[in-house]
Amino acid sequence: MFQNITVIGSGLMGSAIAAHFSNIGCNVTLLDIVDKNQKNKNYVADQAIKKLLKIKPSPLTLNSNIKLIKSGNLEDDLEKINNSEWVIEAVVENINIKRELYKKIDNIMKNELIISSNTSTIPIKLLTEGLSDKFKSNFLITHFFNPPRYLKLLEIVRSNELNEEILNKIKIFCDINLGKSVIETKDTPGFIGNRIGIFWIERAAVEAINYKLTVEETDAIIMNVFKAPKTGVFGLIDVVGLDLLPSVISSLLNNLPKHDHYHTVHQIPAIFNFMLENKMIGRKGEGGFYKLINKNNKKIKYSLNLNTREYSISIKTKIENLKVIKKDLKSYLTLQDNFSKYALHILSDVLYYVLEIAEKISLDIISIDEAMKKGFGWSLGPFEIIDQLGPSFLKEHFLNTNKNIPTLLDDIGGKKFYKIESNNIKYFDFITKEYNILKRSEGVLLLSDIKKTNKPITKISTASLWDIGDQVTVFEIHSKSNTIDMATMEFLNQAIDIVDSSYKSMIIYNEGEFFSAGANLGEALFLGNIGLESEVNKKILKKGQEVYSKLKYSNFPVISAPFNLALGGGCEILLHSNHVQAHLESYIGLTEAALGILPAWGGCKELLARFDNDSKMPQGPMPPVIKTFELIGMAKVSSSAHEAQKLGFLKHSDGITINRNRLLYDAKIKAIEMANNFVAPEKHNYRLPGQTSILALKLAINNMRSNGQISDHDKYIGEKIAFVLSGGITDTTKELTEENILNLEKNAIYELMQNDLTLERLEHILETGKYLRN
Ligand code: NAD
Repeated sequence: MFQNITVIGSGLMGSAIAAHFSNIGCNVTLLDIVDKNQKNKNYVADQAIKKLLKIKPSPLTLNSNIKLIKSGNLEDDLEKINNSEWVIEAVVENINIKRELYKKIDNIMKNELIISSNTSTIPIKLLTEGLSDKFKSNFLITHFFNPPRYLKLLEIVRSNELNEEILNKIKIFCDINLGKSVIETKDTPGFIGNRIGIFWIERAAVEAINYKLTVEETDAIIMNVFKAPKTGVFGLIDVVGLDLLPSVISSLLNNLPKHDHYHTVHQIPAIFNFMLENKMIGRKGEGGFYKLINKNNKKIKYSLNLNTREYSISIKTKIENLKVIKKDLKSYLTLQDNFSKYALHILSDVLYYVLEIAEKISLDIISIDEAMKKGFGWSLGPFEIIDQLGPSFLKEHFLNTNKNIPTLLDDIGGKKFYKIESNNIKYFDFITKEYNILKRSEGVLLLSDIKKTNKPITKISTASLWDIGDQVTVFEIHSKSNTIDMATMEFLNQAIDIVDSSYKSMIIYNEGEFFSAGANLGEALFLGNIGLESEVNKKILKKGQEVYSKLKYSNFPVISAPFNLALGGGCEILLHSNHVQAHLESYIGLTEAALGILPAWGGCKELLARFDNDSKMPQGPMPPVIKTFELIGMAKVSSSAHEAQKLGFLKHSDGITINRNRLLYDAKIKAIEMANNFVAPEKHNYRLPGQTSILALKLAINNMRSNGQISDHDKYIGEKIAFVLSGGITDTTKELTEENILNLEKNAIYELMQNDLTLERLEHILETGKYLRN
């Protein structure tokens, strides 16, 4: 819908916003001020564009997207904004600078130009004071969170003057095309996310010092209690940058009403000032609450002692009682040790504030829950946490701590904020004081919603099969890291039979942390360690190969819908699916070589066949082998679905969904479409070069070894992979079947698994979660 965008301000946010628009194919003009010390008037924006290639994690889904971003400067190029459909202002958080810029825009803008601000805290009524009606009717706040490619929350603030058509157009575009969870907030300082988020961060930090906790203890408690990312709170400040907090906090304090509770509790810990004075601002500087120090070529993590202000080696904290939270948060909060008292203090402070301000900042409770989940990474929103605790628990605690009971808590009269009724999810509407049906936007389908109102067709502890309507099923893996063990594999085997007899298609999908981190390596190691190698062979290798082939050649379409990691055995599921509908943020790869093994559930067989069938590949038997070798031998992982398509893990006919909440819906539409007249694919026959290719690949491997790029064990693994991909002892006059390649895979992995260095690699990843290059 939007093809040409101008972003003004090429700082941290402006440049990353420009990058994200380029990710979806928009042409972006990036404007900034002129640096008088430079000849090149576009110097500031040019530097920002260059920097995009160095930022990690990358703001670009493909480095080549950068070609879509053109630089300019505010002295010469402001008029060019009229070549765009939408201008996003991302200049410093200074109301006067923003207003000055708007005045200039107001004077030159064409009637239909949309303008939005990325301000984090300033209300719209202050931003647009004194501007024309035309400007006001085309102006809104679109508040992206940092980093804009990865953080899904987008807060939209509208004025009464805003043209309704513009609002709808922006909402739809940001949701479907940019992949955002779009939330409309009220026009109050800090909107929803920062209003609650800053309160949470500040309270958690201030009280951690009062309770004499270490940074590791604080982060562990915050992560577990709020089910927040593992950065907790001090780690989060390091990510965001301590230097950003003072301006956001002072903007909030200046603009919030005098009676707002934040004024009463606000404190800046002395250590923050000390750290700012000493430039200890976090990851973009030389460290903050944590820092990495290079010692003997190893990065060692240090943490700051909040009391002595000295660094020492960071030690992973073990708070035994935190395990209680997994079973029951409420029981943990009543334990009465120093940690649980701190947890209760912060949680109740934050929930109290949310209950007090909810109606002032938001249109409904869902937006607040969604803002904290999508903007700050909590797995449950504040109202979902209240429901989990039980509102009466909270009420009692507020009474015991001499707090007035927030009206909203009284309003629900002992009930919960969400409930299931007549197969519908309902939420408490604080305006009507009634429960409304939670309606998702057209095109949004969540398994988590289905799970609240339905029971699975069948399930085991690590996986479930769901009926999601229209004769479509979802095969959901829900083991730790969504790894695949033999029970899951056998369950998939049975699920295929169920779908074959009673349904029309299967989508492989889940809403856990990853699509799948691959095979359960612990299980394979365990069987090997107790001397049951033949079981590894029979149960794990043979069974895996059989079930994945059965999946591919079943009589119904199998659609995989990956997101985040799809590695090893998880990637092999994709390769055996009839169609893949991938989330943009899909990191796909066959990483077995890094673990001392190779793909042996058909990964080699499938990639070889894929490149063999690819009409764009150069002619001859070697190119598909080399391309497959490059991906498997180097354990290459895509950094986005766009890159996965470029590398070949995804086919060009596979689909990409930008919004995570729309992934299942898009996969379902494809499943229904494919189920009409579905014909299973034909098996592939291979003509592989054998010895000539083995020799060529060995030469390349030897070179890499001589250059010191790989170890002796890498070389050994590489040679095994080369043997499999070349077809073993064969030549192009002989035709090989899929079964032949599967046997080569099986024999090679079997040999590798007998090797002590491979076992070391496997044990290392299971113990530390990290790869060992031995
Ligand atoms: P930044 O300091 O990194 O970049 C600010 C940009 O403004 C720079 O490119 C600078 O050259 C430009 N600038 C400075 N003076 C100017 C002037 N007089 N006229 C025009 N441009 C000028 O800041 P940022 O972090 O990218 O923040 C930009 C906006 O985004 C702010 O409104 C901020 O509140 C908001 N925001 C920031 C974050 C974050 O995490 N940093 C998150 C969400 C929203």
